[in-house]
Amino acid sequence: MIALNLINGRWVEGQSKRFSPSFNPATGEQIGKYVNSDEIDAVLAIEAAKEAFYKSNWAHQPRLRQLVLLEWASRLEQKIEPLAQLLTQENGKVIAQSRGEVLGAVSEIRYYAGLARYIPGNFFEVEPGVYTSILKEPAGVAGLIIPWNAPIVLLIRSLAPAMAAGCASIIKSAPQTTQITAAVLNCLQEVTSLPPGVVNLVSEQGHQVAATLVESNDVDVISFTGSNRTGQKIMAAAAPTMKKLSLELGGKSCCLVFNDVNLSDVASKLVTAAIIISGQQCTAARRILVHESIYEDMKIALKLAVESVKVGFGQDTGMQMGPLIDAAALERVNTEIERSLDSCDEVIVRGGRLGGDLSKGHFISPSLIAHQDDNAFFCQDEIFGPLIVLESFTDEKHAVQKANNTEYGLSASVWTNDGNRSLRIARALRNGTIWINDHNKLIAEAETGGYRKSGLGRLHGFDALIDFTEIKSIYQNVGVV
Ligand code: NAD
Repeated sequence: MIALNLINGRWVEGQSKRFSPSFNPATGEQIGKYVNSDEIDAVLAIEAAKEAFYKSNWAHQPRLRQLVLLEWASRLEQKIEPLAQLLTQENGKVIAQSRGEVLGAVSEIRYYAGLARYIPGNFFEVEPGVYTSILKEPAGVAGLIIPWNAPIVLLIRSLAPAMAAGCASIIKSAPQTTQITAAVLNCLQEVTSLPPGVVNLVSEQGHQVAATLVESNDVDVISFTGSNRTGQKIMAAAAPTMKKLSLELGGKSCCLVFNDVNLSDVASKLVTAAIIISGQQCTAARRILVHESIYEDMKIALKLAVESVKVGFGQDTGMQMGPLIDAAALERVNTEIERSLDSCDEVIVRGGRLGGDLSKGHFISPSLIAHQDDNAFFCQDEIFGPLIVLESFTDEKHAVQKANNTEYGLSASVWTNDGNRSLRIARALRNGTIWINDHNKLIAEAETGGYRKSGLGRLHGFDALIDFTEIKSIYQNVGVV
C-alpha cells in the first residue's frame, strides 16, 4: 500500500520522492508506506487550495457542496467493511469501534450536507432607508491537522463543516494513520463534481508541513485536534498571521457516581468508557469519583470489570482493547502508569506489558488505582492509556469541587437516577460536554469542545461552521420614497 499526496485533484509523490513506513501496531509489521513530504509540497497544496477557493465556484455554490458531500457519504457507505479493516490494521482499535467510526463519519457528512444549504445571515433596517446585511462567508483556505486516535471521524469532524461552509482545505494527516486518511479521501476524490484543489492531502513524518500551514499568510484557518503541547505551539506560531484557530485538545474526564445506581452495571460501563481505543481517546473516563457510602462496593465491581477486559488483536471477535499506537506511546504510557502505581494510595489492579502472541505489538493491560489527593500527577495529567483512578466524595459539593480541580474542561459524566441532581451537577461542572448515565457519546448534532486548556472553538453541530466562516456586514443608505 502506498499513500500518496492529493494535490490539485491528482494523487502525486512528494517533490523529494521520500517515503516513510506505515506499521500495524498489533504486530509491528510494515503494512505500506506514505509520502514524507516537506515544505515545498505544503506550498504546492496551499497554492492549489487558493486557486480552488478564489477561481472556482465552490465557495458560492452551496447546492454543489451538498451534492458532493452526499455522494462522498454514499461512496464511504459502500466501503464500510474494507475501511474498518484498514483502520483496525493501522490504528489497532477493535473492529467494532472501527465499524462504528466509519458509520459515524458517514452520518456526520450527511449532517453537514444538509447544513451546506442553510448558512443564513441577516438583513435589517437600522434607520429609515438605512439597511445592514450580515453575510456569513467561507473563511478561505483551511489547514486541518489530524491526530491518529480516531483518524476518520476526527478528519470528518473538521473537513465536513469546512466543505459545507465553502472553504478549500489542506489536510495534514497523522503519520501513524496516513493510509486510512488517504483511503477515505480517495472515496471523495472519486466524486467527479468536486473541483480540483478543494481538498488536498499532504502527509509527513515530521512537522514541517504542519508548521508551513500554521505560519502561512495564505492559510486563513487552522483546525487542529491533538495534544495541549502541540496546540500551544500552534497558537504561538500562528500569532503573527492572526488566522482563525480551532483547537481541540486534551482532557481528563471525571465520572461522578452517586449511591442510587446499579453498581455492577455502572462499573462495567465505566470500564468500557475508560478503555475505549485502549484509553487513547480525549474523552475517555480517567477519574471515577464515587459517593463514600458505595466506595468499597464500587472498588470490588470495578476490579472485576477491569480484570475481565479482553486485550488482543483488534480484528478478533470479542476483543475489547487493542494495542497502543506505537512503541514511543507504549514506552511513555507504561512509564507514567508505573510511576502512578508506585505512588498511589492503593493498587487495585496492576496492568502491564503483555507477552506471548502479543509481545511483538504495543499491548498493555489496564490498571486500576485508588487515591484521595486529587492534586496527584495522575489525577491532573492526561495519561493517554488504560489507567483508571478511583476516588471518593462526601456530598455533591465535594464531588464538584474535586471534578473541577483540573486545568482541563473537555468532558465529564454524572451517574444517578435522581433527575434533579443530574442537572444540578451538570450545571456546576466546567466542561464542554456532560453525559448523564452515559459516557463518550459524541454525535454529529451536538457541539463538542473544551473549557479552559481543553481548547478553543467547537466542532460537531451547527456551531462548527463558526470556525470556518467570516461575518461580513454590508451597510447601505438607500433613502426613503
Ligand atoms: P499530537 O499533538 O502529538 O499530534 C496531533 C497532530 O499534530 C498530528 O498530525 C501530528 O503529526 C501533529 N504535530 C505533532 N507535533 C507537531 C508540531 N510540533 N507542530 C505541528 N504539528 C504537530 O497529538 P496526538 O498524540 O496525535 O493525539 C493525542 C492528543 O490529542 C491527546 O492529547 C488527546 O486528548 C487529543 N485529542 C483531542 C480531541 C478533542 O476532541 N479534544 C480528540 C482527539 C484527540
